Amino acid sequence: MSQPCKPIVYIISAPSGSGKSTLVNELLRLVPRLDFSISYTTRPPRGSEQNGKQYHFVPREEFEQMIRDDEFLEHANVFGDANVLGDYYGTARRFLREAEINGHDLLLDIDVQGAAQIKQRVPGAISIFVLPPDRKTLEWRLRHRSENDEETIQRRLDAARREIENYDKYDYILINDKLEESSESLQAIVLSERLRRSGRALSPEQKRTVDLADRHRLANIRDRVLPILASFRTAPP
Ligand code: ADP
Ligand code: 5GP
Repeated sequence: MSQPCKPIVYIISAPSGSGKSTLVNELLRLVPRLDFSISYTTRPPRGSEQNGKQYHFVPREEFEQMIRDDEFLEHANVFGDANVLGDYYGTARRFLREAEINGHDLLLDIDVQGAAQIKQRVPGAISIFVLPPDRKTLEWRLRHRSENDEETIQRRLDAARREIENYDKYDYILINDKLEESSESLQAIVLSERLRRSGRALSPEQKRTVDLADRHRLANIRDRVLPILASFRTAPP
């Protein structure tokens, strides 16, 4: 009897406000057999978020019990530092089991700490880092989302400055400037990895998909990332 295929695990990370959720929602709408891992978090819901849809919102004690019960494939304290407690975020193991049973792939929207843990624990996981075109644009998007107070926005901009320094630990980089183009490229990355693993000969259209994805490979896009990093490094603290 043939073994079920292991799911491809896609990791997507980005500084908050880069447009990752927008891109992920579009990806899930358009690509079949791709499940989204709904993370657990101790942060309160934002705006129109619903429990069980964007996140499972749980009290800190419940999250800590889940850690003790080894229910997480990875977890991290995000936006915490010496002065601020931060919030827990975690990926439950059961999403990977369910994807495997259903013959689906799995998408994780997690931070750089979680991405590093998954890369170690899940062989062959594909990682994608979404960047804003520059710091000013990120600030604009954070403000116009109108879901955070000023202190939170400043904390997220500070976190972004640190997070983007990790861009070179990812397989693919997506600079989210024009939404439609970014969305098309993200789909191409996901589909091209499926095509690669299928081992089948590619049609001309499939080859175009792989070519589009390859343009976003770290080695091929590094030069476009450097000015973005500079816009964060030179900004006032
Ligand atoms: P994240 O999930 O990375 O925190 P969101 O998806 O919530 O970010 O996007 C932040 C804001 O930026 C939202 O108001 C969204 O509509 C907007 N946005 C996302 N992508 C683009 C884009 N390419 N161009 C302009 N605005 C965008
Ligand atoms: P937000 O509060 O804006 O939804 O997310 C904040 C950060 O937490 C984002 O970088 C997001 O990717 C990350 N995040 C969401 N879920 C998880 C998770 O399960 N694990 C980890 N490590 N990070 C997560």
